Amino acid sequence: MRAMYYEQFGAAPEIRTLPDPTPTNSGVVVSVKATGLCRSDWHGWMGHDPDIKLPHVPGHELAGTISAVGRDVRRFKLGDRVTVPFVSGCGHCMECRSGNQQVCEEQFQPGFTHWGSFAEYVAIEYADQNLVHLPDEISYETAASLGCRFATSFRAVVDQGRLQGGEWLAVHGCGGVGLSAIMIGAALGANVVAIDIAEDKLALARELGATVAIDSRSVADVSEAVREVTGGGAHVSVDALGHPQTCCNSILNLRRRGRHVQVGLMLADHATPAIPMARVIAHELEIYGSHGMQSWRYDAMLRMILSGKLSPDRLIGRRITLTDAAPALATMDSFRENGITIIDRMI
Ligand SMILES: [Zn+2]
Ligand SMILES: [Zn+2]
Repeated sequence: MRAMYYEQFGAAPEIRTLPDPTPTNSGVVVSVKATGLCRSDWHGWMGHDPDIKLPHVPGHELAGTISAVGRDVRRFKLGDRVTVPFVSGCGHCMECRSGNQQVCEEQFQPGFTHWGSFAEYVAIEYADQNLVHLPDEISYETAASLGCRFATSFRAVVDQGRLQGGEWLAVHGCGGVGLSAIMIGAALGANVVAIDIAEDKLALARELGATVAIDSRSVADVSEAVREVTGGGAHVSVDALGHPQTCCNSILNLRRRGRHVQVGLMLADHATPAIPMARVIAHELEIYGSHGMQSWRYDAMLRMILSGKLSPDRLIGRRITLTDAAPALATMDSFRENGITIIDRMI
């Protein structure tokens, strides 16, 4: 199979021919039709993720058809259209048995713990527990765009943030995660404040349902500006970027008893940010992490997509080939993407 491959962290990834994968007894092999290029892939390539063992094939936001099936797999068959959460559960630990596969103790993560989907084929473990059947109406590109950012935002806003219609949602950072959170918050009937430094991203945020857009460079104090426009603070606030400053702003712009959800990754130098804990105590704020979404919760998200309430395809930016993806991954830190980049051809 053709695949993106690297032997050293930070060294230029190359496109190589590698052996096709075979399924384990409880796994399948998916013929990849579309796969998203994500900042987590860049972090992995930089060596920020201890789960990655070299040499490596990245890629974790995927959709495709099943091309080989392990002998113990019951719910899936050859040719099925599928996608999979980027955090997949083992199916037998305590967390998995309680329905929280997103924090499984023995996670399978394509593109991190195992070789991923920047390839013609990817092996997926624990297929019965994790694969999601794709309705025919949902394209492979749209399904790949759900892979981590949209699904993670869905869990962050709906399940962790418990956002209700009529509440205020603040979203810090209008990249793929943030724009997803804005669309989901608006679909739930909340009022959404979008915060970013780029005018074009704020314009897109407004198109996707943000009631208010704040250019954080144009205000002296972001949290003050959010508290003012929301009449006392947001009920739920998401740091979709993953930076000590946006994390802090997101906590400080909450109203009393508000909920902060951290979705943007905090890695390397940013792994231990300062948190205004005095405010957390005095205002009884709640702080949540959000990391992926269980496969059984995809059903609710897919129903909102099929009904037209959510349109994740509007977040898709560039569509590129696997060959284009190698330099795109390596330059991700310096090149600003608008929306979600999808690899839709394995050439
Ligand atoms: Zn588990
Ligand atoms: Zn991702």
